[in-house]
Amino acid sequence: MIAKQVLEERLELFLRKAREANIRVTPQRLAIYRVVAASEDHPGVEEIHKKLHRNFPTLSLDTVYRTLRLLEDLGFVNAVGPRRETLRYDANTKRHHHFTCLRCGLIRDFEDARLSALKIPAQTRVLGQPQDLRVEVLGVCNACLKKNPKKK
Ligand SMILES: [Zn+2]
Ligand SMILES: [Zn+2]
Repeated sequence: MIAKQVLEERLELFLRKAREANIRVTPQRLAIYRVVAASEDHPGVEEIHKKLHRNFPTLSLDTVYRTLRLLEDLGFVNAVGPRRETLRYDANTKRHHHFTCLRCGLIRDFEDARLSALKIPAQTRVLGQPQDLRVEVLGVCNACLKKNPKKK
């Protein structure tokens, strides 16, 4: 779980920006954003849907998908991980990097001034329009190490 103060700041910013953009903040939309904003885990669509099922029994997986895409278009969340595979969402819109566990898929944020100062290499323009540069550190997370320290 992220710090309560960070969550409150995210929610406040969300409500203010949504108002400015004339986006209707339904209880469902707020709840979906809140799950992503309160999590450090970069939750996937199905996980978000499951978490909300008790409070919103009629909320469909498709609505969760569409809402997250809307939130992404508005810049409140970023999709992480390879597309097509289960999309996961990130409410940290500040420049940051990821530690990804090769065993369980955990994705955690970290910040590093040196990495954040990196410039997007010019040759990527040949491939498309570069927008952001994020460094991914691959490894094995502490929980997985504890379960099985020797496994590669
Ligand atoms: Zn792990
Ligand atoms: Zn992140």
